[in-house]
Amino acid sequence: MLLLDIYVFFIALFLGSFFNVVAIRLLKKESIVYPHSNCPNCNHKISALDLIPIFSFLLLKGQCRYCHTKISPLYPFGELLTASSLFIVYKFIGFELELIPAVMITIVLILSVLTDIREQLILDVITIPALVILLITRLFIGTESFWFYGIGGGVGFVLLLLIALVSRGGMGGGDIKLYAAIGVALGPWMTVISLMLASFLGAIVGSLLIITGGVKRKQPIAFGPFIFVGTIVAYLFGDGIWDWYINMWYTE
Ligand SMILES: [Zn+2]
Repeated sequence: MLLLDIYVFFIALFLGSFFNVVAIRLLKKESIVYPHSNCPNCNHKISALDLIPIFSFLLLKGQCRYCHTKISPLYPFGELLTASSLFIVYKFIGFELELIPAVMITIVLILSVLTDIREQLILDVITIPALVILLITRLFIGTESFWFYGIGGGVGFVLLLLIALVSRGGMGGGDIKLYAAIGVALGPWMTVISLMLASFLGAIVGSLLIITGGVKRKQPIAFGPFIFVGTIVAYLFGDGIWDWYINMWYTE
């Protein structure tokens, strides 16, 4: 069992490396299948040995082997984010059919975080195909009917559209499509919980960043990381949170 866990974690680390590349290349509108990676500064081809997640970064002390330019800490961040989140999802759901939509939405969330923190963008080329694939998946997998998840997608879409209209540009079109996909994965109730958690976290972290001077008052903060945390927590622990919330009001 332990061996399997370690194996899953390492596979996810390598997937994280791949997602970093996917996020960067989709932002630059480059091909994902382009043969190999080059240093963005000196353009030197990077050997396979220097592409081992986390270890290469530590071994090279966060610098390019050839020109010694600093490598962005976003690379090991993306690898650790992918490995830890996919590992947690796998541990809590186990080898059930539900693991399929769970892994799908987690990957969409990871890619969205990686593009959002780089360029404050959540890309249609990620969210729209994800929405379609999740809808097809929900025809076959789920504890509720297909329509439950379909309505979830509608709820996610409409809620974010309303927030976008009220906040006048505080929320982008990318967030709206991402929440439609989240809705199909989580169903309507957990989608609402996800949004509440994300907003709550965003408000706390946003205030802290303004107080400590980390960001300026009007400076936009990427909402993607909060959506990520809110959605994974809602997916894995949402039922418990829902019960706790209801009990809080209905017991003396
Ligand atoms: Zn270089």
